[in-house]
Amino acid sequence: MFNKVLIANRGDVALRIHRACREMGIKTVAVHSTADADAMHVRLADESVCIGPPPARDSYLNIPAILSAAAVTHADAIHPGVGFLSENAAFAEIVEAHGITFIGPSPSHIQSMGDKITAKRTMIELGIPCVPGSKGPVEGLDAARAEAAHIGYPVLIKAAAGGGGRGMKVAEGPENLDEAYTMARRESAAAFGNDSVYMERYLGRPRHIEIQIAADSHGNVIHLGERDCSIQRRHQKVIEEAPSPALTQAEREAIGKRAVEAIQKMGYRSLGTLEFLYENGEFFFIEMNTRLQVEHPITEAITGVDLVRMQIEIAAGRPLGMEQKDVTFTGHAIECRITAEDPRTFQPRPGRIDDYHQPGGLGVRVDSALYAGYSVPPHYDSLVAKLIVHGRNREECLMRTERALGEYVIGGIPTTIPLHAELMRAPVFRSGDYHIRWLESDYLKS
Ligand code: ADP
Repeated sequence: MFNKVLIANRGDVALRIHRACREMGIKTVAVHSTADADAMHVRLADESVCIGPPPARDSYLNIPAILSAAAVTHADAIHPGVGFLSENAAFAEIVEAHGITFIGPSPSHIQSMGDKITAKRTMIELGIPCVPGSKGPVEGLDAARAEAAHIGYPVLIKAAAGGGGRGMKVAEGPENLDEAYTMARRESAAAFGNDSVYMERYLGRPRHIEIQIAADSHGNVIHLGERDCSIQRRHQKVIEEAPSPALTQAEREAIGKRAVEAIQKMGYRSLGTLEFLYENGEFFFIEMNTRLQVEHPITEAITGVDLVRMQIEIAAGRPLGMEQKDVTFTGHAIECRITAEDPRTFQPRPGRIDDYHQPGGLGVRVDSALYAGYSVPPHYDSLVAKLIVHGRNREECLMRTERALGEYVIGGIPTTIPLHAELMRAPVFRSGDYHIRWLESDYLKS
């Protein structure tokens, strides 16, 4: 097992990784920007190294600075966390070239799944159903018009390098195709330095359902069920739940089995998530994430598996230590992504936290790096806390989440806690019968 892990991230996920390492007897190195000198992950880690000024490109994305920090602290592995360099194949390759283990999949799998066109092609070859769309990149307006006519409107133009819902534009009909295509390319070039785009049929009212898989370097692959991430705003997840209120046990087993088979054929190693849209009983693959996901704790809640520990053990060459039949699901879990934003306008509202009280009690977990006196810096993602609640069934989980949200005090800055509390009472959410556009198009507009 590793002696010392460098955590190349910040916030709640840095803390999550630190906690797993501590429980495994592994020392931790925190890296941080000057804006994060007082951050909780820095305080708790065994060692810390400042890697640059506040902008992420100069610190959390600064590969030479991170490698230097690993070298001076003699870290033998790097955990990239979520976001930042976690899906950067070049980073994984450089880390390994320095004799340090990258806690994640091989650089070639990061590369192939990071390009969504290659990812879809690979999945089609492996027998996974995908959203109907272009076979490859769509180059030029003429090609886009022909492709859209072939797919049928409405169509979605998506960035091959996409992430976080950026570089994605809908064309309702031929009249707005040119604009949507041009905007998607422009946004993609600005966000990812790559303007390659592809096209898909724009599904009307699907759910977002994703399958968590884990694969070791000995050929063992399991799935840990699904997460339903259909409560979204601007193609970004707001609330996730597991299991999905929409799936039957037979559907769960069938899609899980197909995901496992595909991953096995790919020769993939590490944690991974296959994301699907689900409509009228059918699954359509949209992308694969080759890293830990923000919403991993709800899977941990219903399976009892520590996914970060499992990810570290896999990277160290250990076998999974469990088979599919050992994966059992107990009860229901919900995660609320609490952001430092105005709960109505969603404008980021960083600032000083003058009062802090975290909820507790049976089935309540908070993954957050906040504390009273901490200042949320304006430079990064506005996610400040994840509230993860487990109950024996969905009804109990909903009641408990509402109760926990009522106890949660984050004083000094606005957060989305009031929106989450409202959603726990919203009849449509309670019914479980919702889709990816419900929050934005129906609920927030009413
Ligand atoms: P990103 O990597 O930017 O997050 P994804 O491909 O994962 O992009 O899609 C993010 C979200 O965008 C999905 O959860 C869904 O809400 C929406 N979306 C993606 N593809 C489609 C599609 N073909 N039809 C309708 N909605 C889609």
